[in-house]
Amino acid sequence: MKVIETIAEMRQQVTLARKTGQTVGFVPTMGFLHEGHLSLIEAAREKHDLVVVSIFVNPLQFGPNEDLERYPRDFERDERLAKQAGTDIIFYPSVQEMYPEAMPMTIHVIKGVDVLCGASRPGHFDGVATVVMKLFQIIQPDKAFFGQKDAQQIAVIMNMVSAFNLPVQVIARPTIREEDGLAKSSRNVYLSEQERQEASFLYETLQIGAEIIKSGEKNRDRVLDQMKARLDKGSGQLDYLTILSFPSLNETKTLTGSIIIAIAYFYQNARLIDNYIIEA
Ligand code: AMP
Repeated sequence: MKVIETIAEMRQQVTLARKTGQTVGFVPTMGFLHEGHLSLIEAAREKHDLVVVSIFVNPLQFGPNEDLERYPRDFERDERLAKQAGTDIIFYPSVQEMYPEAMPMTIHVIKGVDVLCGASRPGHFDGVATVVMKLFQIIQPDKAFFGQKDAQQIAVIMNMVSAFNLPVQVIARPTIREEDGLAKSSRNVYLSEQERQEASFLYETLQIGAEIIKSGEKNRDRVLDQMKARLDKGSGQLDYLTILSFPSLNETKTLTGSIIIAIAYFYQNARLIDNYIIEA
């Protein structure tokens, strides 16, 4: 496994791979890898000759009062885990390498960002789309692998690929969870012991909502009320709880077709998100 820190060398490697007819699978991450990331790397490994994983904590996607400075990092551990999972190249650029000057232009996401994390984190998806566009240009993957945990991110990236006719296929992979159901996240290390014990109730609440819908309830507000009652018992603070159509992310009073139930929840030092996608 190679670690590449410059765009020039990354491009060289991809050009070389392409010349010999290799396909390229790409997994963008912010590092501090866990089984969720590793499942994406393994999925890429199954399908591609060259597997590239990027590790880059992207300043553009963090708001002024968010956790950019204290986002967890451990490159040596990431290196070991990425290698075990079958990575060929870790692309590990510095902020200076990716943004040698303030970006003279960025991608502004218009559709699908007035809800969920787009509403709670203004500008977040502009930052995500901009860095993913850069990474796609640098790595030129055949397929890029993303986790369903960040469902809105997938919708945004799929829209970007379609809007700009990018020659890459976006693959969505299921959320990997801890034994008690908590979605794996790099930010889980910031939970206190008590918060960690409690946090599995987020997924339990999603399951409660899903069960109510599966039992035939079509009224969105009635489902949300029952879920809220459960969430009110937590020690943190609810950012949002909502049900939308998926992947279009529109509000619907009556639940039919493919829908997403989504939660964002603040603990003291970590904001957690999770979701559940079902056919209503
Ligand atoms: P991040 O490092 O948090 O930016 O995540 C990098 C990629 O890993 C994104 O596509 C995430 O959706 C995905 N990911 C994060 N957590 C999980 C998880 N628990 N299961 C599956 N994929 C995940």
